[in-house]
Amino acid sequence: MNKPDLKNLSLDQLTDFTAGLGLPAFRARQIFSWLYRPGIRNFVQMTDIAKELRLRLEERAEFSSFEPAVLERSEDGTIKFGFLLNDGNLVETVLISEEDRHTLCVSSQVGCAMDCAFCLTGSMGFKRNLSPAEMVNQVCAVQEYLHTEGRGVLNNLVFMGMGEPLANLDNLLIALAILTEQRGLDFSDRRITVSTCGLVPKMRELGLNTTVNLAVSLHSVDNEVRSRLMPINRTYGVEVLLAACREFPMPKRKRIMFEYILLAGINDSAADAELLARRLQGIRCKINLLPYNETPALAFKRSSVEQIEKFQQILWRAGYTVLIRNSRGADISAACGQLAGREKTDQP
Ligand code: SAH
Repeated sequence: MNKPDLKNLSLDQLTDFTAGLGLPAFRARQIFSWLYRPGIRNFVQMTDIAKELRLRLEERAEFSSFEPAVLERSEDGTIKFGFLLNDGNLVETVLISEEDRHTLCVSSQVGCAMDCAFCLTGSMGFKRNLSPAEMVNQVCAVQEYLHTEGRGVLNNLVFMGMGEPLANLDNLLIALAILTEQRGLDFSDRRITVSTCGLVPKMRELGLNTTVNLAVSLHSVDNEVRSRLMPINRTYGVEVLLAACREFPMPKRKRIMFEYILLAGINDSAADAELLARRLQGIRCKINLLPYNETPALAFKRSSVEQIEKFQQILWRAGYTVLIRNSRGADISAACGQLAGREKTDQP
């Protein structure tokens, strides 16, 4: 019999599971809080639980954890972790640190089915969804790393690694429930951002079920250009996507983050910026401009600094909050769009 991995369960689900073993709800809370502490690998370590019960739990359940198989450090301090999954796939997670603030870029799938023209993850194709435990374990492993190094704790989580998180929404929602549970990792919803290429029906479902921040990869508000860059636009075009953003259920204080990669000669003209400013009118948002990270495998070019700043100024003048995302970790292929999870060749 396959034992369930308890890290796939939200606290409610764990409570149901332990109830099935005849245990009261407080036991579930107790076990849950152990699961997410650094260094906990087996039930024996859960020392405030009676020994008999620990043995029973061991017979009926298990819980997984990640040890980094790859750890690469960039000159700028960014660290890319590679975790080997049970089926031999590799998943990548990127730790971006500014002084003592740490942001973790979490993956939601192995590969990606969205096939965006500029993205290396897209060009590797889709392998499979990550389970809730496989998303949460990326966070646990890096939290543990920071703890061991005496470097504090993770401040922010962004689901901007490999994969399209909303194409794996059921597992994502469980992972979010685990990550935000006070008795475990206790991330506030304000410190978690989920980024989507624009899976419109799933955006609404996310908004109805959570209050995490939403980021939308826009890259163009011209249907012809956007469809060429992002095939998803042929299903959910710019009008439909922006309408969904307008209607996105979110608390008053929140804003949607639009990500916009600047690709030389494709979407970076003054006219593009003006069109963007017009189309986003009335949406509570901030805009993140992403200088394109070039890759030899793809022909796209990064816009010049002057072009990027000009683009930013047009949006500023129209009243938007606009940041230029400073790209990190390019020397170790850890920057946006560079996660391709090269498989280890020694795997069967
Ligand atoms: N699938 C989700 C999550 C990926 S987030 C999404 O599309 O939002 C990764 C972000 O990096 C997205 O905004 C993506 O469009 C962007 N990106 C992809 N390739 C890039 C590249 N080469 N340079 C800069 N940004 C890139």
